[in-house]
Amino acid sequence: MARKTIFITGGASGIGRAVAQRFADGGWFVGIADIDEAGMAATAAMLPVGQSSCHKLDVRDRAGWDVALADCAAASGGRIDVVFNNAGIPIGGAIVDLTPEEIERTLDINMKGVIFGAQAAYPWLKVSGPGSVLLNTASAAGIYGTPGASVYSATKFGVRAITESLDGEWADDGICVRSLMPSFIDTPLLSHATNRASNEDIRTRVVNAGLEITPVGDVAEAAWAAVHGDKLHILVGKTARRIAFASRWMPGSLRKQMRSSNRPLGK
Ligand code: NAD
Repeated sequence: MARKTIFITGGASGIGRAVAQRFADGGWFVGIADIDEAGMAATAAMLPVGQSSCHKLDVRDRAGWDVALADCAAASGGRIDVVFNNAGIPIGGAIVDLTPEEIERTLDINMKGVIFGAQAAYPWLKVSGPGSVLLNTASAAGIYGTPGASVYSATKFGVRAITESLDGEWADDGICVRSLMPSFIDTPLLSHATNRASNEDIRTRVVNAGLEITPVGDVAEAAWAAVHGDKLHILVGKTARRIAFASRWMPGSLRKQMRSSNRPLGK
């Protein structure tokens, strides 16, 4: 029987790379997909020989998805058990300051890319089910709208919605759908400026706000648990857990806190 296989977008860096390592450690074959070829090669070099394949894919390219998944299945021995829809970019700043290009790029990568990934993944997950998984990376910013990150939050609420919709839509197919909701994770993403007009990186903002940064290995363990467990949304990090608790039990106080601060709380 072919090895269990996970296909990971954004596999050249950060969370995608850490999840690739975690699943390879668990004996899985890993399909690494990204636009960054050098980064993919670096991820592959961290995995045992013969246990991965690299696929240049821009998640905005619907036809490209079909090619990459077919190539991954061919390399792994025929099957894909998990598609990890993880590639994403940050965008911050006041909504009035964002350019149409910044807004469209973020919506296209963070949301359209996830929708295209779900469509393309379906036939592969259906044949490898029951128990196959579509795992999407949402964010703590998909729990409560983040001031100073409205567009990013909108995309992550979108990812949350897609997860919940498909959890129902694919239940009879035996395909599980899950989301990860991390707060601030120690990856290269934190080194990005929040937008073109800012020269302050996200990491500095998080540290100045007194918030924690969670090791990327925690997300890799959460991804493993998500694939092997039954929870729909998996929170990762103290800030994510705090926002989830407050939005459920203290919504008035959370709103007050968001209104009194123009600093992003979830990313
Ligand atoms: P990262 O910047 O380290 O990695 C993102 C990867 O996505 C990069 O390798 C990049 O080349 C790839 N990518 C970007 N655009 C792409 C495209 N169009 N097609 C294919 N690949 C593309 O960031 P990360 O922290 O590992 O982020 C991974 C996911 O986690 C993102 O969806 C992000 O929104 C989410 N997230 C991150 C944090 C955090 O604090 N780091 C928190 C919550 C959610």
